[in-house]
Amino acid sequence: MKTRRDFIQQVALTAAAVPLLRLPAIAHPLREESQLRVAFMGLGGYANRVADAMKDCTKARITGAISGTPSKLSDWQQRFNIPAANCYNYENFDKIKDNPDIDVVYVTTPNGLHHSQVLRIAAAGKHVICEKPMALNAREGQEMVDACKKAGVQLLIGYRMHFEPKTLAINNMRNSGVFGKVKFFQGQCGFTIGDPTQWRLNKELAGGGSIMDIGIYAINGSRYMTGEDPIWVTAQEVKTDPVKFKPGVDETIMFEMGFPSGAVASCLSTYSMNYLDRFYLIGEKGFAELQPSTGYGPIKGRTHLGELTQPHKTHQTVQMDEMADIILRGKKPVIPVNGEEGVKDLKIIDAIYAAVKSGKKETLHLG
Ligand code: NAD
Repeated sequence: MKTRRDFIQQVALTAAAVPLLRLPAIAHPLREESQLRVAFMGLGGYANRVADAMKDCTKARITGAISGTPSKLSDWQQRFNIPAANCYNYENFDKIKDNPDIDVVYVTTPNGLHHSQVLRIAAAGKHVICEKPMALNAREGQEMVDACKKAGVQLLIGYRMHFEPKTLAINNMRNSGVFGKVKFFQGQCGFTIGDPTQWRLNKELAGGGSIMDIGIYAINGSRYMTGEDPIWVTAQEVKTDPVKFKPGVDETIMFEMGFPSGAVASCLSTYSMNYLDRFYLIGEKGFAELQPSTGYGPIKGRTHLGELTQPHKTHQTVQMDEMADIILRGKKPVIPVNGEEGVKDLKIIDAIYAAVKSGKKETLHLG
């Protein structure tokens, strides 16, 4: 006879299998004409990480690059076999409109540049993948969503965790009722930031501080871990180094959120602590923990039923193959990655900054 525990383990195994089933058993590349052709804009640290990971993609490949630095363009041409005709700078990239070798532009520039660049890419009729945070505030984010809609192109946000196997397993277990009614989420995200002159500490380019860069993982995670969007937020800021963290650039923010079901969340975002990368979900019947929860991996996780054993895959390889299916073949991801999701996270960030200022509970309308 099957026990309840057998049933729960079966659900967990099925959940674990879902993301794996989506990957081909043997990585046969799609025919070239069925692959997503990607141009990167802003050839910095993260662009290089994604581009290297794309060497193992079977459904997406790099065909173009946009940079203000000619030496980076020639380096990328050599490393990724990009024709010179598919390389652009920030002045002339609108001409990408006439380039049939590029389907999508992946925007990996500093946050403050995303808005204007995405509007230009949409006007050039190309799909967009934009890194998080998609913009500096929800108003800008909504303008980007509207512009892409008007141009008939897709806008996705680089939410790589939405394709991560252990994250998806927890999502599936929660939907199957394994944790019971969700009561509490804890998200702790941070690292000690170095060079004080970097753009991440420049209000104009970053839009803020730790919340924009790393706290956004706890915000986004609170939504995909609980399966709900919050309806209120409270927040408190602590600043120990006002020289490094100028006005408008937050060092540490603690924030709390409430969800329609009555579940609550308690989160920490900081640029002043290392080893902070943990998600914890509590339900009436069990728990799930991810630690590390959003780093490049391997992600580690356990639930009240035991350790999660889904094998690690390079996040960016999976993300880009999945995004190829979304953009070219209309696949619906388990956890959405469209521009509207990016706007929701920015509405929460706007409300967190407002709550820090007001000291009051701010109401959220994520729509
Ligand atoms: P980076 O500084 O390493 O790269 C930024 C690139 O933009 C550089 O090549 C720089 O030359 C270029 N650039 C163009 N115009 C610029 C200007 N006016 N000022 C400064 N740089 C300019 O930064 P990064 O770590 O690659 O971050 C880029 C984006 O990717 C950010 O939005 C960040 O939040 C995001 N990111 C996402 C992840 C993730 O895991 N999803 C990880 C890291 C970064």
